[in-house]
Amino acid sequence: MVADRFHEIQRRVRAACERSGRDPKEVTLIAVSKTKPVSDVREAYEAGVRDFGENKVQEILEKYPQLPEDIRWHMIGHLQTNKVRQVVEKVCLIHSVDSIKLAGEISKESQRQGITTPMLLEVNVAEEETKFGFRLDETEGALRKISQLENIKVCGLMTIAPFVEEAEENRQIFRIFHQFYVDMKSKNIDNVNMSILSMGMTGDFEVAIEEGATMVRVGTGIFGVRRRIGEQ
Ligand SMILES: *Cc1c(COP(=O)(O)O)cnc(C)c1O
Repeated sequence: MVADRFHEIQRRVRAACERSGRDPKEVTLIAVSKTKPVSDVREAYEAGVRDFGENKVQEILEKYPQLPEDIRWHMIGHLQTNKVRQVVEKVCLIHSVDSIKLAGEISKESQRQGITTPMLLEVNVAEEETKFGFRLDETEGALRKISQLENIKVCGLMTIAPFVEEAEENRQIFRIFHQFYVDMKSKNIDNVNMSILSMGMTGDFEVAIEEGATMVRVGTGIFGVRRRIGEQ
């Protein structure tokens, strides 16, 4: 089941790349396994998935020791500063850096552990009140401040687009965000390597790819619906 769905999503990723004249190697598909059991993660792993997304520190800590070491865990959910210590060394990329304070804590903890932590800044492009992230108009300033911190590397930007019925409704958001990403890349800020644009989920990943996403985060499309109450 999981393997079949993964292959179908992979096929759709490739088709979206073809439609927009992009090389499928430019787009990383992250399987969002939040709330799903280790057995599902293992099935996806057997099908070839190595990039998994989780939104809770506790869940990463539980799954991490039970699964192969070559898995790349992506932290995609809001991260509280007091949980940074437990998770920095276990994840390959933190997509959800939504404050300068959080970036500072990641820097401090990375120095303590002698590592460099790759991160994306989360941007609330549509300025939805229920969502975390910098506003577009404050992101450049945040980038400049955060890039000066030790033991971190800013690799790009992430957004969670609004929940919509029709993927096309988010095209404009993705387009604006991609343009912003290109602008930020052209500024060549020291210690910022603008190479990752993380946008698009089950409902709209194809449109996101057409508009320039380099990482898409797909949960439901691979693992089926989530039962846990309160999970978006
Ligand atoms: C849950 C989640 C996803 C995946 O959502 P689906 O609609 O199930 O694909 C992607 N990104 C973030 C930040 C999430 O929390």
